[in-house]
Amino acid sequence: MTGATVHRWSAALPWTPVGQAARVAAYRESVAAAAPRVILAGDYLGLPFTDSVVNTGQWAAAQALRRLAASRTG
Ligand SMILES: Cc1cc2nc3c(=O)[nH]c(=O)nc-3n(C[C@H](O)[C@H](O)[C@H](O)COP(=O)(O)OP(=O)(O)OC[C@H]3O[C@@H](n4cnc5c(N)ncnc54)[C@H](O)[C@@H]3O)c2cc1C
Repeated sequence: MTGATVHRWSAALPWTPVGQAARVAAYRESVAAAAPRVILAGDYLGLPFTDSVVNTGQWAAAQALRRLAASRTG
């Protein structure tokens, strides 16, 4: 890193773009259908808050466990 710029707002609120819920639902369905080796998590797959991040992480972990269990049962 060679530099930084600081912006200060007197008030601000994170927002989620219109259509995000549908895009996230489509992504989750694609993971359930295709069982990819990489499963994404993060606030961009939920809402821009830490509790949402935890939720996406738990969902991704559950998907990974589901895939693991399926591979063990053949
Ligand atoms: C100013 C501010 C205030 C906030 N206040 C609150 C609050 O009060 N309450 C609340 O619930 N939420 C708050 N949030 C939101 C919360 O911080 C985020 O929703 C949460 O941190 C997102 O977690 P994340 O794991 O998805 O992403 P991040 O926490 O951004 O983690 C992503 C990580 O990936 C790393 N990374 C990025 N690109 C690469 C790469 N190419 N290779 C390797 N690593 C990479 C980054 O360095 C970072 O460490 C705030 C956010 C901001 C910006």
